[in-house]
Amino acid sequence: MNAGQKVLESAQVIIRKTAEKMGLDEEMIKRLIEPEFAHEFALTITMDSGTKKVFKGWRIQHNSALGPYKGGIRFHPDTVREEVQALATLMSIKCAVAGLPYGGGKGGIVVEPKKLSKGELERLSRAFASRIAHVIGEDVDVPAPDVNTTPEIMSWMLDEYQKIIGRKSPATFTGKPVSMGGSLGRTEATGRGGLFVLLSLLSKLNKKSEGTTVAVQGFGNVGYYFAKLASEVGFKVVAISDSKSGVYDKDGVDLDRALKNKKEKGTVSYGKAISNEELLELDVDVLVPAALENMVNDKNMAKIKAEIIVEMANGPLTQEAYEFLAKKGVVIIPDVLANAGGVTVSYLEWVQGKAGYFWSEKEVNDKLKIMMDKAFEAIWDRSVEKKIPLKQAAFEVAIERITSALV
Ligand code: NAD
Repeated sequence: MNAGQKVLESAQVIIRKTAEKMGLDEEMIKRLIEPEFAHEFALTITMDSGTKKVFKGWRIQHNSALGPYKGGIRFHPDTVREEVQALATLMSIKCAVAGLPYGGGKGGIVVEPKKLSKGELERLSRAFASRIAHVIGEDVDVPAPDVNTTPEIMSWMLDEYQKIIGRKSPATFTGKPVSMGGSLGRTEATGRGGLFVLLSLLSKLNKKSEGTTVAVQGFGNVGYYFAKLASEVGFKVVAISDSKSGVYDKDGVDLDRALKNKKEKGTVSYGKAISNEELLELDVDVLVPAALENMVNDKNMAKIKAEIIVEMANGPLTQEAYEFLAKKGVVIIPDVLANAGGVTVSYLEWVQGKAGYFWSEKEVNDKLKIMMDKAFEAIWDRSVEKKIPLKQAAFEVAIERITSALV
């Protein structure tokens, strides 16, 4: 079984188990599991050398009960159909958890973007947009960036799409540059949303942010902003890491210095180095895996000491590690809630694009807070009422919302 098949299986298993506990019948479970559409295609572009090259791609539209499909496009050499389907499935759940009027979708191309020139990358992005042009739209399917896709790539895709349909439609893509109708606050949104959820959880547990120690794995868009915003409200971020290196500082990592080092020297390192394994196993209050999937697994789960885990990456805990740690009493904020701030501000971008009226950064951040707080409360209440972990509560609430809209 490849990694994509594993994530798909675990997404489908949790939906099935939750739905069965809720007493849903087999046909309804199938409607929750099977994607409504799976578009698979070959994209041919001309390389700089003049030769033609073919790339495999997908756009999978999982469920549209609550609204247009919503989800990112991933450019990765290891992407497979099952992974795209799994991520589309989890987007249906995430959008429902966040209370957004969206279903779930996802796209992907099998490519190592670092090996393409900028021109090749643009041609590939435009080819993808033209392939999916007839199945997307602001009220049909709204793509966004994901792993290795950027606001600039969204601007190429939107431009290509608008040329094909012959009119402007900025709300069809989110995660665009602000100059093309993107939203202020989108860059920090995933980290900021995760922080709002963590603060809500601490307040339920009668704990404070001041002095609470945090370790953050991954220093990209999500990890960096989570760490930075958390330290601004009093958390002590004692360790951070990226794929190459890590830093530990018991008094709190100098995040600006780490970022400067990463930009200038390609490594976050300064002072006391820490490996990724050591970071995960630190004796901290809160562990924040914000890098990739499956980082906490059967090899390290018994060594995890944190009392709270915030799943900022998608699927950072394997199913086995999740079950082990949940049983041990670790409070785990599931990815479908913890990292929903990104899609929530994508929704705010979509609303602004449809209305042609744009909010200040403060207005966007305030709206994000209101929406994340509301999402957390519903999941927390379900978890307390049914005495179930937050992840199970999140899937229950999402499935309830989706099925109540399935006629
Ligand atoms: P990114 O590419 O900006 O950053 C990823 C970071 O992880 C980098 O610092 C990289 O060095 C680090 N990393 C990679 N391999 C690692 C390893 N083995 N050990 C430690 N660090 C490693 O990506 P991102 O946008 O920050 O996304 C991170 C995760 O969050 C992904 O799972 C993504 O799907 C998820 N996510 C992102 C958003 C968003 O808005 N960006 C929204 C929801 C979920």
